[in-house]
Amino acid sequence: MSSAPALLMRLVASAHSVADKAGTIIRKVMSGGDLGIVEKTGANDLQTTADRLVQQSICSSLARKFPQLTIIGEEDLPFQETDEDLIEIGQSEEVLKYSCPPQYSSIKEEELVVWVDPLDGTKEYTEGLLDHVTVLIGIAYGGKAIAGVINQPYYNYQAGNGAVLGRTIWGVLGLGSFGFELKEVPEGKHIITTTRSHSSKLVNDCIAAMNPDQVIRVGGAGNKIIQLIEGQASAYVFASPGCKKWDTCAPEAILHAVGGKLTDIRGNAFQYDKDVKHMNSAGVLATLRNFSYYSSRVPDSAKEALVP
Ligand code: AMP
Ligand code: MG
Ligand code: MG
Repeated sequence: MSSAPALLMRLVASAHSVADKAGTIIRKVMSGGDLGIVEKTGANDLQTTADRLVQQSICSSLARKFPQLTIIGEEDLPFQETDEDLIEIGQSEEVLKYSCPPQYSSIKEEELVVWVDPLDGTKEYTEGLLDHVTVLIGIAYGGKAIAGVINQPYYNYQAGNGAVLGRTIWGVLGLGSFGFELKEVPEGKHIITTTRSHSSKLVNDCIAAMNPDQVIRVGGAGNKIIQLIEGQASAYVFASPGCKKWDTCAPEAILHAVGGKLTDIRGNAFQYDKDVKHMNSAGVLATLRNFSYYSSRVPDSAKEALVP
């Protein structure tokens, strides 16, 4: 007889369902036509009705089921009761088919920190670059990203032929990552993916120092990690502050669960304890394979300019 699923697997299963609902909300706000755009720190740092509703939906749904969790969401919202129709109570049966890795089987709720980016790639969402958009739910234990869920609401939106719209990718360290087909860039080819809306001289100098065959400029941290695990890019290089812990926690867990590596631009691991600074001031460097090729080519100028 099998025992009840461990807390971590129940949380990932709930986060999977909650992320699916988030994708539905994001598509509904877009099809409604009024995005309700607000500038946060400036024109390249936006919030829409979808960012607000999805954060409420994710945080309230998870808090109701797991009241002792620490949940940190990107958006600074005034307190307001969450509409019942934003609450998701389901849990993914697909996730619950898997056993919890033994090292995480006795974790308690109060030991977990959940980092939520309700809509990653907001700028691209407002510009109609819809497949750049993701929903990120990262789970940290002992300061380390150990599990993550990424929903991509507009996956397949240009495929036609009745292709299913949207997908959810998830992963747990020690178990693996699921919901996509793992692919690698051909051996010896250096394809770098980076920001399209937050570039700078430092960002571009760092990429040039890596002598890439190709540079792809797309929105979203979640989107760029999907490119790494699906063999569209070999490294995500961002020599700039700007990314926050909610941008990297879920992507890092999913990438690490398939043997990749995500760090700051100096090669230092991120910490995800509840009291940590939100800003990833020292940039981001991530690869599925061959981390040392890219890490060894980060110019000293970038390492000196970007202090954790
Ligand atoms: P990007 O690759 O530019 O889409 O950035 C990935 C994530 O980091 C997104 O959530 C961005 O909003 C965030 N980000 C990166 N740079 C900045 C910045 N300079 N200001 C605000 N957010 C940023
Ligand atoms: Mg983001
Ligand atoms: Mg966001």
